[in-house]
Amino acid sequence: MIVASVFYGLKCNRCGSMHENSDGYTYMMDEGQILEDALENEWAEKDGKHYCPNCYIPSEDEDSDEIVVKPTYPELIKKLEKFILNITKNVPRTVEGDDKFEISFYENHAVGLAEMNWITSFDEVCFQRIPARHSNQVILIINK
Ligand SMILES: [Zn+2]
Repeated sequence: MIVASVFYGLKCNRCGSMHENSDGYTYMMDEGQILEDALENEWAEKDGKHYCPNCYIPSEDEDSDEIVVKPTYPELIKKLEKFILNITKNVPRTVEGDDKFEISFYENHAVGLAEMNWITSFDEVCFQRIPARHSNQVILIINK
């Protein structure tokens, strides 16, 4: 007999990244446990929403657990991440700095000209390819 089971994951309300527990699992059977685990690992909860460590600024007052959520995650970044996932079948790595975002991925299949043209059709995007013996690394720099 096949039975279905429900698992819970915790997704950042701002950037969409998933919490991964110390054993490397993204989903757990216990809803409360995944939240507890995330909060112990620098995730934060505010007004019923959840934020990964990259998406908020902790309070300078150590006694307070008030946080400041960073400005809305740009639609362009989400769009590019989705596009890269589609063409490479790999989740790109996004790093957010004070003045820019960097999205990097490996070209397991070379990015075609049409795809590259679409990526660079956005003025904010700078396309960099770092040649390597096996698969080139591509870094997209998007100024804020
Ligand atoms: Zn986040």
